[in-house]
Amino acid sequence: MGSEEVGNRQIILNDYIKGFPKESDMSLKTSSIKLKVPADSPNAILVKNLYLSCDPYMRNRMQKTEGSYIEPYTPGTPIVGYGVSKVVDSAHLNFKVGDLVWGRTGWEEYSLIKEPETLIKIQHTDVPLSYYTGILGMPGMTAYTGFYEVCSPKKGETLFVSAASGAVGQLVGQFAKLLGCYVVGSAGSKDKVDLLKTKFGFDDAFNYKEEQDLTSALKRYFPNGIDIYFENVGGKMLDAVLLNMNNKGRIAVCGMISQYNLEQPEGVHNLFCTVNKRIRMEGFLVFDYYHLYPKFLEMVLPLIKEGKITYVEDIAEGLESAPAALIGLYSGRNVGKQLVVVARE
Ligand code: NAP
Repeated sequence: MGSEEVGNRQIILNDYIKGFPKESDMSLKTSSIKLKVPADSPNAILVKNLYLSCDPYMRNRMQKTEGSYIEPYTPGTPIVGYGVSKVVDSAHLNFKVGDLVWGRTGWEEYSLIKEPETLIKIQHTDVPLSYYTGILGMPGMTAYTGFYEVCSPKKGETLFVSAASGAVGQLVGQFAKLLGCYVVGSAGSKDKVDLLKTKFGFDDAFNYKEEQDLTSALKRYFPNGIDIYFENVGGKMLDAVLLNMNNKGRIAVCGMISQYNLEQPEGVHNLFCTVNKRIRMEGFLVFDYYHLYPKFLEMVLPLIKEGKITYVEDIAEGLESAPAALIGLYSGRNVGKQLVVVARE
């Protein structure tokens, strides 16, 4: 490859946004790049991006906010997200040409990564490489740490998970089943509900869009109450869950996707339940738990290989399909983990 110069297609954020993101908020541009780490970038690596991950939190980076745990994107530059990439040149001692890595990269065909230290080298390639955007990547770690580290789960307890068929939810439910919990999930279509019950082995599932009254729906699925709620959506669902929680219940607050595109977040009305039911409600960020990644792999790789855990992906083909794939998360268009194939090798 040497210092060959090639075209580099990129997905650019046009400007900061308000409300629901649209495909037209991003544009496809072609620039050019030398397939060699420039002399003025010691420790950098140059990667070819193979798979890109679409994640709900990316919406938060598309607006100019202060005090967030992650900085806003810079308009006019490529979107940044998690991905699986192959090293094509390296000036860093820990990375060599041909290495496969997962971590933060650009929404483009090739990226120069100036501080590659946070990238994780992929050691196990006897599973689909795309899994490192999902079950073996950030969403998998989120499900694992949220469930085992935050929910304090015990065999026989009841667990409810919202956005249950998504990248994180499908795993939370399966981890809980493996431990011996009673698991119910909510999702936004009949097909997703069927998937939860047939493919992921949930005890039950319902389409929240078809329920007039979420509080009584939850009462129907949990006549004896909810011990653990894995919160992915926020809004009305959280209020309904609070009324159905058991004493000493735990709520792991992973995300609140129903609120991400609202200019005024909805209020939560039933928070007093946390007092009278002694509920522990704890938000968490996966970034605080990456030191557990080797332990996580040790647990999850055998489960995948023995077929004890399964993972559904929604694969969009081509970098040009990335904007539509990303915005689809906010209307529930994805079935399973949404990712984009830029190149297969
Ligand atoms: P995902 O579930 O694969 O995709 C998002 C899903 O959210 C959609 O498919 C849709 O499913 C549902 N949704 C969209 N708008 C909604 C609304 N207004 N009300 C209810 N549901 C809505 O996404 P994911 O990657 O697994 O993420 C799930 C949650 O975890 C998100 O809140 C995300 O921000 C959070 N998260 C947190 C961390 C952390 O470190 N704390 C890390 C990763 C992810 P339906 O068809 O079922 O509505």
